[in-house]
Amino acid sequence: MRHLITGGAGFIGSYLAEALLERGHQVHILDNLSTGCMDNIQHLRRHPQFSYTIDTMFNEPLLAELIDQADQIHHLAAAVGVQLIIKSPVRTIETNTQGTELVLRHAAKKSKRVFFASTSEVYGKSQAFPFTEDGELVLGAPPKGRWSYACSKALDEFLCLAYWNEKSLPTTILRLFNTVGPRQVGHYGMVLPTFVQQALSGKPITVYGSGEQSRCFSSVHDVIDCWIAVSEESSTVGTIYNIGSDQEISINALADLVKRKTNSESEIIKIPYETAYEEGFEDMPRRVPDVQRLRKTVGMAPVTTIERIVDLVVAYQRERMVPSRPVDTPLKTRPRPLRTPVRPVDSAAVPAAEG
Ligand code: UDP
Repeated sequence: MRHLITGGAGFIGSYLAEALLERGHQVHILDNLSTGCMDNIQHLRRHPQFSYTIDTMFNEPLLAELIDQADQIHHLAAAVGVQLIIKSPVRTIETNTQGTELVLRHAAKKSKRVFFASTSEVYGKSQAFPFTEDGELVLGAPPKGRWSYACSKALDEFLCLAYWNEKSLPTTILRLFNTVGPRQVGHYGMVLPTFVQQALSGKPITVYGSGEQSRCFSSVHDVIDCWIAVSEESSTVGTIYNIGSDQEISINALADLVKRKTNSESEIIKIPYETAYEEGFEDMPRRVPDVQRLRKTVGMAPVTTIERIVDLVVAYQRERMVPSRPVDTPLKTRPRPLRTPVRPVDSAAVPAAEG
């Protein structure tokens, strides 16, 4: 099958591309490299079944053409990361809503199956633990900027289901819960790569708020296995699936775990939310998925432990750190350099997704 992945050079999209190629499919990526980067897909570039276009999904003729050439569309291009969302709310809202609308509109013209990357953020401040796909969404007030992300993603979900119900476009929604793993970067606020980077460089590990808030972290590899299993089932059309681990950990415990796994001497410090984000910032105290629907449908759910995930992330970041080079070390035996962030091709273009 021919797959189009929007936001395919992002953290999650690049793993999806890799897994689809491993299964013998053709993959084309559309990404504007605003939060994704070429490093994520470097290892795929020579694969005969792989191709990519660096451009924005708002290039409509191009998007239409790429959708036309694909059998299935995986729509991951979006503005992501709490820091980015608070800093650039206009970009967040426009990218997430208008981008998805475009993808669905063009997919509908050709009746192409669409898989939409949504987020556990849509549950907002719900207290109905664990979160079920048909449960209520409890979002905060518009003056609190963070909710624009949840709101825009929730609107996208409505649109996906509306396209299915009204226009018979086969859409499926995958709500991803705190997906982590090697290649994820902390630039946009994600906690695990940030903690590991801080611990490895001896900087303070920055716990926001009390640190008693908790999350369920899933390995990106598990998430992608579930994503593909859902995409291979015809019965999953018109349905929402939580994809997440049900193992919960507080952010304090995560900081301790990272410090222990890295043998770091970094101090763990607390930073108030208003300093870390903005005045009046609201965080979710817990976020736990109910994965019964996922298990019933595809017989699996993310299971990798947070200990194992931290090991993988630490090993990845260690490998990419540049130790001070002895003067006589030949260049070719030097470790790979730290990632150089790739600038967006078009600085006015919209960001690509990490899911
Ligand atoms: N967080 C933290 N220190 C950081 C980055 C994040 O304590 O340097 C906290 C953040 O406030 C949240 C949790 O870690 O409570 C998870 O944050 P992330 O941005 O990774 O994902 P979220 O669940 O907020 O979407």
